[in-house]
Amino acid sequence: MPGWSVHVDRTRCLGCGVCAAYAPGSFTQDDEGLAVLCDPPVDPLDEVRAAVDSCPTGALSLAITDVATIEREG
Ligand code: SF4
Repeated sequence: MPGWSVHVDRTRCLGCGVCAAYAPGSFTQDDEGLAVLCDPPVDPLDEVRAAVDSCPTGALSLAITDVATIEREG
């Protein structure tokens, strides 16, 4: 686990693809075009944070779960 997690609120996702553009190793889109988190997500936290902050509907919520892992792996 990368030391963080992202919740996708599918009721708010428009399927615009901005999150996948900012962090293509962490977000993709399903058959409905809605965002899903990759398993495992592989982008640095800075790119994931940019993706979360760029979502036009606020559908993404970032939670830090393990600071030590983030400091070690970025
Ligand atoms: S940026 Fe937001 S609205 Fe666009 S696909 Fe990602 S989660 Fe959905």
